[in-house]
Amino acid sequence: MMAGKVKMTQAPEVAATADDATNHPIRVQTKDVTVHYGAKQALFGVSIDIPDRAVTAFIGPSGCGKSTFLRCINRMNDTIEGCRVGGNITLDGDDIYNPALDVVELRARIGMVFQKPNPFPKSIFENVAYGPRIHGIAKSKTDIEEIVVSSLRRAGLFDEVKDRLHEPGTGLSGGQQQRLCIARAMAVGPEVILMDEPCSALDPIATAIIEELIDELRANYTIVIVTHSMQQAARVSQKTAFFHLGNLIEVGKTEDIFTNPAHKQTQDYITGRIG
Ligand code: ADP
Repeated sequence: MMAGKVKMTQAPEVAATADDATNHPIRVQTKDVTVHYGAKQALFGVSIDIPDRAVTAFIGPSGCGKSTFLRCINRMNDTIEGCRVGGNITLDGDDIYNPALDVVELRARIGMVFQKPNPFPKSIFENVAYGPRIHGIAKSKTDIEEIVVSSLRRAGLFDEVKDRLHEPGTGLSGGQQQRLCIARAMAVGPEVILMDEPCSALDPIATAIIEELIDELRANYTIVIVTHSMQQAARVSQKTAFFHLGNLIEVGKTEDIFTNPAHKQTQDYITGRIG
């Protein structure tokens, strides 16, 4: 059920939420962000405020720069050869491109969940315990156990795996693996969680479970999700940004973007005329 690929003549319905996140403090702020891959420019001056304790969705046609922009927020583009990032990005007012900043530390504060679940080839327990151990967050065996259990609980996975914590993470279903990856990201105490099409490899039931989880997690985290599914954006986010050909065309309350967009390009995309 690849909902995002269905051509529609009407915009998707937006989940009724009293909380539109407009009054939440800004956690991540970007100003005039540009990205080049070699000579090719992929992003053209993207400025956006990302609110705390809410879900912000990036939508737009394939290749418009959503993932590229998401990777700017925890400096994952640093790992791509030939990729250059310009402009300014702050987390709680601090420049995340400050050369003095410890990138490993930054990626603990701004965690990431990828399109394809990618557990380590280790046990379920070790997948979650690894991060806190290398970051020196947990000292004793009891500390580690507590973090593993609470992270698995927060990811809505503990009850399903409590009797097999020492079996390989790769033996879980796709949806469980993705929740394991979310637990792994949470185990190092992030403030922001970036999700790059986290449901695109999952069936509709596993997708619904992850969407419910995202909705719960927003009470405590700043979440940014890239999705090719407008229905998903409408269901899970409070703020939506529409990208087209490397430009941020429009950003606002999810409800406004889907019911009353200011730009014709947004209107055309959400009604299925482009993309
Ligand atoms: P989206 O996530 O919206 O599908 P991407 O951010 O993946 O878009 O891609 C934006 C543009 O940047 C595309 O033209 C794509 O081909 C290019 N691009 C993405 N990743 C790389 C890369 N590693 N090297 C070169 N070009 C890339």
